[in-house]
Amino acid sequence: MKKYQNLINLIDKRDTFLLTSHVSPDGDSIGSLLGLKYLLEPYAKEIDIILADPVPEYLRFLNGTDDIHLYEELDFKMNKKDYDLYFTLDCGTLERIGEVQQLISADEKIINIDHHGDNNEYGVYNYVDSTVSATGELIYNLAIELGSNYQVDFGMAITTAIITDTGNFKYSNTSSETHRIIADMLELGVDTQKIIKQVYGTESYSSLRLKGEALNNLQIAAQQQIAWISINQETLDHLGATWEDTEGLVNYPRSLKDVEVGILFKEVGFNKTRVSFRSNTYFPVDEFAHEFGGGGHSRAAGCTIQLPLIEAEELVIDKLESKF
Ligand code: 5GP
Ligand code: MN
Ligand code: MN
Repeated sequence: MKKYQNLINLIDKRDTFLLTSHVSPDGDSIGSLLGLKYLLEPYAKEIDIILADPVPEYLRFLNGTDDIHLYEELDFKMNKKDYDLYFTLDCGTLERIGEVQQLISADEKIINIDHHGDNNEYGVYNYVDSTVSATGELIYNLAIELGSNYQVDFGMAITTAIITDTGNFKYSNTSSETHRIIADMLELGVDTQKIIKQVYGTESYSSLRLKGEALNNLQIAAQQQIAWISINQETLDHLGATWEDTEGLVNYPRSLKDVEVGILFKEVGFNKTRVSFRSNTYFPVDEFAHEFGGGGHSRAAGCTIQLPLIEAEELVIDKLESKF
């Protein structure tokens, strides 16, 4: 019997699939979604990919992104379609899919494929493994199990998922298996240089200037074990930048010598602050993010706090400092 036989049986007997991932989708969301779509095509009558937020510009180079639909642009919202299965990728909790939750007709139809250690197994089938670097690795494993005849487009999607979630193979989630998968992708003909250039080397003028502004305001606490940056809407408007341009910014405070926890605070709305946490060697930022209703991985986590930027910053830094 194959490792994922129950899942394969489910897929075999069903025809219509809705695929989704978390709000503010990243490279792992988009790469896994496209990879799974290619994988399911031989089994399906219909596959739709629907997200609560748009595909970020830096991932639009991937073939297939034009077929990813935005929830708020759907015209069948009021007259909901009933899919046979709902796949949620890269989501530790069902809430992470945002408004797309409203399209799910029954929780008994959810297939949860994810790599977050705090995943609460909300699906009827949960393929959850926190030892892999990216959900893209799990989609690759499924392709192997299914004996799928995958092509370069699948490879580009999976490789993008892995490159983005490992920070270009820098993070501790990178394993020998991660590299084995990439070796297979290279043999398939995947252009890793193109992916790396698109993801890490296509900064806009406003996005680079935003980095400058952010670094100018770098703050530290606890003898430089904590470092953070804050961005508000006014700064973005002033530089002509967007929230998308803040992707990866949290790695700057994290990269400072002696820092254990790097943080990025974003004032995304009135009384609404998004917080990204990164740690370097031991601090469990997922556990810390849980204290604010968020979650994630031990070295990368996030949360949303219903407070203005300054107050959220004070609350988080005070609480964190007390742990050092
Ligand atoms: P980022 O800082 O890049 O937004 O997120 C880092 C990691 O934490 C990602 O794996 C992401 O899925 C997770 N994460 C971010 N925000 C939240 C949140 O509000 N809730 C949960 N459960 N996970 C989050
Ligand atoms: Mn993700
Ligand atoms: Mn991921």
